[in-house]
Amino acid sequence: MTASSPGTALETPVSAAPGVKLHALLVEDNALDAALVLRALFKDGFDVTADVVEDEVAFIQALRARPPEVVLADYNLPNWKGMDALKTLRSEGLDIPMILVSGTLGDVTAVECIKQGATDYVLKDGLARLPEVVRRALREKNERGLRHQMEEDLARKVDELARSNSDLEQFAYVASHDLQEPLRMVTAYTQLLGERYRGRLDESADKYIGYASEGAQRMQILIQDLLAFSRIGRNSATSMSVDCNAVMAEVLLGLAPAILESGATVTLGELPAVWADRTQIAQLFQNLIANAIKFRGDRRPLIAMQAEKADQHSLFSVSDNGIGIAPEYAQNIFVVFQRLHARTEYPGNGIGLAICKKIVERYGGRIWVESQAGSGSTFKFTLPSPGPDGKQEARP
Ligand code: ADP
Repeated sequence: MTASSPGTALETPVSAAPGVKLHALLVEDNALDAALVLRALFKDGFDVTADVVEDEVAFIQALRARPPEVVLADYNLPNWKGMDALKTLRSEGLDIPMILVSGTLGDVTAVECIKQGATDYVLKDGLARLPEVVRRALREKNERGLRHQMEEDLARKVDELARSNSDLEQFAYVASHDLQEPLRMVTAYTQLLGERYRGRLDESADKYIGYASEGAQRMQILIQDLLAFSRIGRNSATSMSVDCNAVMAEVLLGLAPAILESGATVTLGELPAVWADRTQIAQLFQNLIANAIKFRGDRRPLIAMQAEKADQHSLFSVSDNGIGIAPEYAQNIFVVFQRLHARTEYPGNGIGLAICKKIVERYGGRIWVESQAGSGSTFKFTLPSPGPDGKQEARP
């Protein structure tokens, strides 16, 4: 091979068995060195073609004319620096591995170059290493590409999911909001019918009006529940540092009649502050404590709430000695309108835990239950901690 002028294309001798195709861009002012580099690659099975340049203008031209799989750059050139090729690659938005091929390169300089983004370096008197270094660089680039592709796919899916969730939320909100008005008319007029015509038609008519009015009232409650559920995702909530001890004190005050009536004992550990909307946290605590009282079976309820504070989030638990939940229902109970009992046995609509889940997940947390039928339940959930300056830390 002969010395090449900037932009010269070099072809390796024809190989008997065609190897891995590789197009390289050499930044090199010495034609003999360029030929040695290509020979080293060829000898190790690369079917290599190359452009050889020695300054920035020719480098950019070659990049644009035929993007290489790898750049092999001499560290010291009369008119340019090998490391400048890296800057050009970046400014062209190209992710092409760049390997320094140099006569001498001290360890400190080599480490500095790699820190700045060079893939590796090979000394000219150790060119036997070059093929392996090139192979590794190509492999890593390929892996980077795949990872990037996977990240993009994931980001797109997350985006689609977020969009479809928000569509669904919007639908639930609009449906439940708009259904209220016609339903109010149905409820009002069936009630009126009942009041005005009870005992004036036959017995069956009284019964039918009763069913219709009961059904309309139940539907009103379901729609209100659905509306409350879909409101959680909407933007009215304001996150701040919430003192959970103060929230629990208020929740217990509100539940005082149920606590008195059931003879429940509620034990509270020291609760940490969380970064969330205060009203939603109150709703979460209230739903869990109210359930612990409601699903008590025939024992006097013993309820305990505690929390462990970790750096970025706290783990809360609410345990009771109630009827418990069979493990196969541990997931279902968090789904909207899913209940394990008839309303005649335990009142309710099955929205409470779905609301709890939505609140906890809104703050990046997780909620689950640990329980066995008949032996009490422990609901656990995580919520983000406020940072030391009273702001939110990273999510759990
Ligand atoms: P609701 O209380 O209206 O039924 P929830 O969504 O709050 O709705 O609860 C769903 C179901 O989970 C309940 O019907 C009940 O079967 C079960 N559950 C909830 N909390 C408890 C608890 N503390 N102990 C036993 N079962 C519970």
